[in-house]
Amino acid sequence: MRQPITFAIVFIIAFTTTLGQSLNNDTSKASNKRGVLPEDTEAAKALARLGDLSPTALRERLQQMRLPAYQADAIVVKTIIEAQGLPVISGKQVDQLKAVLQPVLAYHGRGQMPMYVLRAEQPKAYLVNRAVIIITTRLLEVASEAELRGIVAHELAHEYVWVERAEAKLANDEKRMREFELFCDAVAVFTLKEIGDDPISYSRILERLAQSNTVAGIMAGNTTRRDAYTHPSLGARKKLIKFLCQPFE
Ligand SMILES: [Zn+2]
Repeated sequence: MRQPITFAIVFIIAFTTTLGQSLNNDTSKASNKRGVLPEDTEAAKALARLGDLSPTALRERLQQMRLPAYQADAIVVKTIIEAQGLPVISGKQVDQLKAVLQPVLAYHGRGQMPMYVLRAEQPKAYLVNRAVIIITTRLLEVASEAELRGIVAHELAHEYVWVERAEAKLANDEKRMREFELFCDAVAVFTLKEIGDDPISYSRILERLAQSNTVAGIMAGNTTRRDAYTHPSLGARKKLIKFLCQPFE
């Protein structure tokens, strides 16, 4: 984790010596310009779930992977919110936030997903039981609108691997759990591209949160000490995001 210089060198080499290769041996003309992720990395395995990275293929793939939208009833949502033990914020600012995030929810077929803002010092967003998205006031203070969209896209991406991730968690399979986090990062980057945001903004907010030592906080729920093992390093995440910011037409 704490090898920024080494990492930067490896990163530069990886992105300057692999011209002409492509992740999935696709022979489209754009592939000559692409960087490539080393095979057998968690990032490469995460992307293998998505297959062809062209926008058209990715759209189709996400459609295939998407679970039927789960609409929790009001009592379930209320129970979840009360269990957080944090004050609920409402009003015009929250309404505006919902409007700001609506393109992300709509993109993933989750336009009706309940969303709550809770007052908390830790900058966090998380998806609970596929039922409700929770965002803290502190996150609203530190993230731009595009950055919030990226974070919420990551949270919604968890739905695509919901069952498998639960199995990995049960089995304490930390490697697979890191793969799922990278998968969600990939979906976040793709979502931002699709809705017209700058996808690198997602990298920026991850970095900012890491600098304030709270990067685990943006992961889906269950923030525990074990997050250090179940979540990839910031370096791995940034590398994947940069790779995906290339065009894949
Ligand atoms: Zn996550």
